[in-house]
Amino acid sequence: MPSATDTVEVRQAIIEACRWMNQRGINQGTSGNISQRIDGDEMLITPSGVPYDRLTADMMVRMPIDGPIPPQTFKPSTEWRFHQALLRAKPSMQAVVHAHPPHAGAIAIQRRPILACHYMIAAFGGDTVPLAPYHLFGGSVLADAVVDTMAERHGCLMANHGAVVVGETLERALWRLEELEVLARMDIMSRIGGEPHILSAEEIDAVLVEFSGYGPKTSQ
Ligand code: 13P
Ligand code: ZN
Repeated sequence: MPSATDTVEVRQAIIEACRWMNQRGINQGTSGNISQRIDGDEMLITPSGVPYDRLTADMMVRMPIDGPIPPQTFKPSTEWRFHQALLRAKPSMQAVVHAHPPHAGAIAIQRRPILACHYMIAAFGGDTVPLAPYHLFGGSVLADAVVDTMAERHGCLMANHGAVVVGETLERALWRLEELEVLARMDIMSRIGGEPHILSAEEIDAVLVEFSGYGPKTSQ
């Protein structure tokens, strides 16, 4: 998947994605942030603390994925460090989405990973959605913890904070975020009056094999 170029359309797609998260109830207020890789070694990232209905294309912050914040009008998201670090660590991934989804957040507050309660856990690259330890938001310690936790995964919970996912495209990252919130909701509901059955690592490996050939094909 080639990197996007910095255009008004690409900036507008980030804004639409922010509004979509809030409309879907996956995020709220000025929580969360989104980045999109552009031109290989740069990224566009949402500005810090701006309500999503007031975002405009010129507010997106363009910065390198390896290097300090260049001087500009809008401050980038306080979480720019883990956006940079994930885009550096995962060259095939083009977008990073962080949110405070209520059900995923509840499990992150219980400080446990999501286990393989449903086969869609494979969308995260294995048989868990792991949990990153708690650290103060916006810091490099949190960024290191998130990158470590996601070494073998496309998403994680963040203790007492929220969730972060990556995507081969921004659309795929949003799909993954919504799947994560649904998994979290199903996990919580499956514990009401019962014990969830957890699929084995072998069963999830079989799903991963099927996923590699899943989806519409472009002919022959
Ligand atoms: P920003 O508004 O700085 O992106 O912060 C929101 C957030 O979720 C911090 O973790
Ligand atoms: Zn946050």
